[in-house]
Amino acid sequence: METTLQIYTVKQICEGFTYSETDNKGLYGLAGTLTIQPEYQRNYLYSENGGKNEVAVVDSVVKKYPLGLLYFNKTKDGRLEVLDGQQRITSLGRFCTGKFSYMLNDIPYKFASLPKDIRDRIENTQLLAYICEGEESEIKEWFKIINIGGVKINPQEELNAVYSGPFVSAARHEFSNKDDSRVQKWGAYISGSANRQDFLQEALKWVSNGNIEDYMQEHRWDTNINELQNHFNDVINWIESIFDEVYPQMKGLKWGELYDRFHNNPYNHTEVSQKVKDLLCDPCVQDRKNVFEYVLGGCNDTKLLNIRVFEESTKRRVYERQTIEAKAAGVSNCPLCAIGHDANKQKIWKLTEMDADHVKAWSKGGATDESNCQMLCKTHNRAKGNK
Ligand SMILES: [Zn+2]
Repeated sequence: METTLQIYTVKQICEGFTYSETDNKGLYGLAGTLTIQPEYQRNYLYSENGGKNEVAVVDSVVKKYPLGLLYFNKTKDGRLEVLDGQQRITSLGRFCTGKFSYMLNDIPYKFASLPKDIRDRIENTQLLAYICEGEESEIKEWFKIINIGGVKINPQEELNAVYSGPFVSAARHEFSNKDDSRVQKWGAYISGSANRQDFLQEALKWVSNGNIEDYMQEHRWDTNINELQNHFNDVINWIESIFDEVYPQMKGLKWGELYDRFHNNPYNHTEVSQKVKDLLCDPCVQDRKNVFEYVLGGCNDTKLLNIRVFEESTKRRVYERQTIEAKAAGVSNCPLCAIGHDANKQKIWKLTEMDADHVKAWSKGGATDESNCQMLCKTHNRAKGNK
C-alpha cells in the first residue's frame, strides 16, 4: 500500500460540498473529486444529541486546535474516498453551507454571517490527509485499524465495511434510515438506533440464526435483499398478530428465536393478550421480560418468570406452627411424610431440612403469602415441584 501526505485547506475540502438529508450523509467535497461517504462508511452521527459534536469541530477550527489526520483512499479511477475523517469533514461542510449555527460571544452565527476574519480563519485552516492506494483488502484492513478513535465503530458497522457491496447498500437503505416512519414501529421490539445499524443487525441475526457474518459473505454480491426483508417483516407481523398491545418489556427480546420456536403454533389472540396483561401486573412475577416467552410456550415453564418466593420470616412462622401441631399429634412435621407409610412418618425435620411450598400452585392462581404456604421436607417439596 502506497501512502502520501497532502495538505488541503478547509475551503478546498468543502468546495462543492453536498449533503443528503434523506441518506443522512455528506456526499462530495474537493469540487466533486472526493467521495465523503463511500458505501462502507457509517452514516453521519455528529448531528445527533443536539449537534454537540459538529459544533465542537467548528469550535476546534475557530480556536486553532488541531483536528487530527484525515485518511483518504485513492481508487483505481483516481478519485478519492474518505476512509477516516468523514464525520469531521461533513461537520465542516455542513457548517460552511449554513446547515447549523456556531455561538460566538453568545450570538448564534451561520457561516455566511460570521465576521470576515473568522470566516477566513476557518477557510484557510489546513487539514492534513494521508492518501493511500492499494488493494481493497489492504485498505479495508487498515480502515478497521484507524477507526478506533472518535465515535467507536460497532461490530455491524465494521461488517458493513468489510462486506460492502450491493447487498449492504440495499440493506442499509431499508434498515438504517432513521427518518423512515417504520423505524418507530420496529423500535418497539428492537433496541438501539437505526442509524447505528442496530436494526439491520437484528434483521440479519433473525434471518441467519445468528450467523450474521456468514450470511453477509454469502449474499455480498446479491442485488436484492428479498429474503432478509421478507423474514424481517414476517417476524414483525407475527408479533403484531399475536399481541394486542405494545409493552415496554417487549423491546430487545430475542424475537427472531421466539418466532422460530413458536410461529407454527395456533394462538387464541384474546386469551394470549389477557394472559400477558395479567402476568405483567402480577407482583409475584419478577422477570417481566420473560412473560411473552412464557405465554407463547403455553404457560408451562414457570422458571422463566422467576416467581417471588416466600419470605424467611413467613417460612419460620409456618414451620413453628406446623411443628408444634405435629408433635402434639405424634406425626411428622412434613404433612406428606405424616400420611406416608415409611420410617419418616413421625420424623420431626429441622427448618433447614425443609422448603416452602405453595399449597395451591402459583400457576393456578395461588398467592405467595402465609395463608398459601406449607413447609415440606426437601424430598417431598422436590417431588411436588416436578409434577
Ligand atoms: Zn416429607
